[in-house]
Formats: sequence, structure tokens, C-alpha cells
Amino acid sequence: MIFRQLFDPQSSTYSYLLADSRSRDAVLIDPVFEQVRREVALIEELGLRLRLTLETHVHADHVTGAWMLRRRLGSQIAMSARSGAQGADIMFGDGDRLEFGGRHLRVMATPGHTGGCSTFVLDDNSMAFTGDCLLIRGCGRTDFQQGDPAAMYRSVHDRIFRLPDECLLYPAHDYKGSTVTSVAEEKLFNPRLGEDIGEDDFAGYMRNLGLAHPNKIDIAVPANLRCGEPESSAPVDPSVAEPDWAPLTYTYAGLWELQPEWLEEHYAQVQIVDVREPDEFNGILGHVEGAVLMPLGELKQQAATLDKTRPVVTVCRSGARSAQAAVMLDKEGFGKVANLAGGMLRWRTQRLPVEGMD
Ligand code: FE
Repeated sequence: MIFRQLFDPQSSTYSYLLADSRSRDAVLIDPVFEQVRREVALIEELGLRLRLTLETHVHADHVTGAWMLRRRLGSQIAMSARSGAQGADIMFGDGDRLEFGGRHLRVMATPGHTGGCSTFVLDDNSMAFTGDCLLIRGCGRTDFQQGDPAAMYRSVHDRIFRLPDECLLYPAHDYKGSTVTSVAEEKLFNPRLGEDIGEDDFAGYMRNLGLAHPNKIDIAVPANLRCGEPESSAPVDPSVAEPDWAPLTYTYAGLWELQPEWLEEHYAQVQIVDVREPDEFNGILGHVEGAVLMPLGELKQQAATLDKTRPVVTVCRSGARSAQAAVMLDKEGFGKVANLAGGMLRWRTQRLPVEGMD
């Protein structure tokens, strides 16, 4: 099994990527719209095929990336039949199996936070994804979206706490930096829902939380009821829009990369900035035709001589220093920056032409 826990800092949401290591089939639980580009990069770098996106519930604090991922990767959207959402490919219910390769997740209906909340339990009961029902030492709120403290109490005590004690629990959010808990741990230490706490105590606690209205609810809920499809009039989020000046690849490290073959044919259309030292620039690897030398340590001062309206490609020996240069130029307000993948080493391995060799 391949397993990755991903975080969206804006909404403190966790998304979970699970894949069958043999077949490479993957599922992504609770993807976040603004993180779609990052998740696509990871899925491609790991060589996975995204089969399904799953929602634990209709979220009020972020928009799902399900629709965008279907468009980008062809994944199917799975939602609870009780969610009321439109446009899903699979509507699941309690007890259903959601398969990926030779593995599956079992759906356990755990209403309380919303009426359609589900917990996904891995086939061997080693992990469960509890959404906003059970959080680490807490639970989701029950004061909007068909919230119901009594239902939540039963979902936790009669369902989640019946899983094996050692089963690891992964929530949809954490606001304090915790990442995982277990059934045994929450039975003992959950201050709202621990084993010894009665239903009336819990309901009283929940009715007196006095929480503020979530700030994204008016945007997020309607969008999530469409599985994250933007309204036709709404502009696509710029963080998801793709640059079109070259066939770039977005990496999980957060950078745009350009392949050497493209640069060889289009070098006159871009500004090539070589950030190595002068002796390397004129050394045995040579440099790309038209490249200007700006050693990394001097780049910040020299960048003013570059044209911000034209694309910039950064180059170094292996692609590491130039990656740093690309980040630096992006911060300086250069909108079109990409790193030459593999640097001069890959360029030479591919026998592409150079100039300036001693
Ligand atoms: Fe929620």
C-alpha cells in the first residue's frame, strides 16, 4: 500500500492518497480545489492512476478538488447518496466497498456533523478516515448542515469505537498540528466523546460551543453540492490555471520544469539565465546558446536587467541551484519562470548543442 497524508494550510484540511502498490490504482479522499496542481504532480511522480475521489461529506470550509481532478485525470467522483450533491459518478451508502486495484475501503455511515457524513475503513481495519465526525481529541461541529449531536454520539460510540483498538484514525482536519490517532487513544482521551462520557453530557457540550459562522460556508457548500464544478461565470482559480508559453510540468516540489528538447527548439523565444559560476559556464559542460551568466549569489541584483514580460528559463549544472533561482525570480515578480529539468548534465546526456567550451 502507498499512503500519503496531504495538508491544505488555508483550511487545515487533510487529504489522503491511498494506492495499491501492485496495480498503481489510487483513491484520493477529500481533495482540496486549490491543491489540485500539487496532488496531480504527486500522483504522476509516483506513477499512479487516480481511479476515484471520495468525499467524507459536503464540506463548509473549502471547495473540493473532485471535479477538477476528474477533468485533469479522468477520476470518478464518489459521494454519499445522502449528501444531496449533484454530478457524482458513484453514490455510495453504508456498507458499500470502494475498490482501488486489489484493495478497498468500506463505507461506514457516521452522520452527526452532516447527515451524509461517512467514515472510510481500509479493508484490513488498520486505518479509518473519519472526516469531521471524530477529530483528534475533538469532533466536528453539529450546529449547521443537518448537524445532530445525538447522531454524532452514536456514530462515534456505536461505529468508530467498535473498530479494533489499534485501528489508526485520520481526520479531515486538525488545527493544532496533530496528524493521526487511534481508536484506543480516543476512547481514553477524547474530552468530548471518550468512552465514559454520556450522550446528554456530549449534547450539552455541543450546544454551548458558541462557534462563529464558518467564513467560507456560503461559497463552499453550494460549490461542493456541484462536486466542486465552478459556476460557468466564475473565473477559474489562478492557482489552478496552467501557464501556456511552453509545455511545462509542475513538480511536487512546487516548481515549473521545462524539458531540454523544447528549449533547444525555442531558445530564441525565452531568456535563458545560467546561474552557475563563470568557470563552470565556460567549462567542460559548456552552456546553452544565448544563455546569460548570472551566478546565483548575484541573481537578485542582476535580475533587474531581465525583461519581466518575457519567459525566463533558469539553468545550472544539475537543476538544483536553478530551481532555487526560479523560486527567487518568481518572488521578484517574474510571472513566467521555469527550471531546465536536469540542468546541463541532462542537456549533455541528450547530446544537445552547446557553446563556450574551452
Ligand atoms: Fe466539515
